[in-house]
Amino acid sequence: MTEKYYYLDPYKKEIKAKVISEGEYVEFDKTIFFVGGGGQDFDTGYANEFVVSEVYEKNGHIYHKISRNDFKVGDIVSLKLNYEKRLDDMQQHLGEHILAGLLKKHFDIDNVGFHIGKEYVTMDINKEISIKDLEFIEDMANEVIYKNIEVKFLMYKSKDEAGKLRKDTAVKGEVRVVEIKGVDKIYCCGTHPFHTGVVGAIKIIKIKKNKKNYRLFFICGKRALKDYRNKNKIVGELNNKLSSDDNTLLSKFDTLNNQKKEIKNSYNELRKKYLDILVEKNVNTKEGHLIIYIKDLSEFDIKHILKCMRNIQITIVLYSSESVYITKNINSNIKNYIKKYELDIKGSEDIIRFNYDKSFEIDKFIKKLEEEIRREYV
Ligand SMILES: [Zn+2]
Repeated sequence: MTEKYYYLDPYKKEIKAKVISEGEYVEFDKTIFFVGGGGQDFDTGYANEFVVSEVYEKNGHIYHKISRNDFKVGDIVSLKLNYEKRLDDMQQHLGEHILAGLLKKHFDIDNVGFHIGKEYVTMDINKEISIKDLEFIEDMANEVIYKNIEVKFLMYKSKDEAGKLRKDTAVKGEVRVVEIKGVDKIYCCGTHPFHTGVVGAIKIIKIKKNKKNYRLFFICGKRALKDYRNKNKIVGELNNKLSSDDNTLLSKFDTLNNQKKEIKNSYNELRKKYLDILVEKNVNTKEGHLIIYIKDLSEFDIKHILKCMRNIQITIVLYSSESVYITKNINSNIKNYIKKYELDIKGSEDIIRFNYDKSFEIDKFIKKLEEEIRREYV
């Protein structure tokens, strides 16, 4: 059996421990490496100079994956925790207890799933909640932090002895309960700080519908500070660019966006006029067939020309830097010519389209296609 030192002192960063089984997976008489559970990841760190990359528990024994170590049974080894990760895990984890407890207490909302992600912590809740109520919960959660309430750890012989808690557990026999008085009481095997103040801050980021539940994204502790710093930097840079301040930033952006839309509309109008002239210049009449070749068009241009010419019986070849459109009078000879190129052709009888990349010799393709069309129609 391994003594779980991480429960005695979750702030301990380093201890000496004795090797009691050797190999790639080492067991010590005691450990500061949490094995993972309750939504919290296992700890990582060092055993002397060797990396502890994984920790797990089996039948009361805790095994540490330490590749290429030279430990022998009886050796005294220095275990060093990656404490930044542990503190982050504890801040996010206790933050979840606080939020889940308050959601249950004030709105009878259940936490049905919890995950500490790299960027955000997510909690799936079983009921919808308004932004106003979420802000209320966020305020309450931060009040719990300011009050620096003691986090208590209670052991019970069975869940019956523990009584009814926020959520049931499947654990048989002895159970560990974590209590934040007046806020939350729940079965949990994770590592937690002794006081809520360690969580630092709780910020809810967003809520999204997730299948039949709602997913809450939030961050706690140092993550909240880092996020605020990053967002402050972004807002500061935007204010510099727009000559605004935090209060006028959004209205300045709206004005700019409206101006952009107006410019785009007038550009499109002008572009259409230019395209009409371009089409007129490029139309060749050959014994009743019109062939148009225009290159360097944008997707917008192509769509406009096709729309204008949809009632005219002509062969049109239009191409942009990434796609080719061929429309009207596409007979089987032309189709066979195109097929030779093994292109991914989309479209109908009247209009076909394919995309091409840089390796495709578009000028060569168009030149030969032109010859093909002339042979057919001229
Ligand atoms: Zn917990």
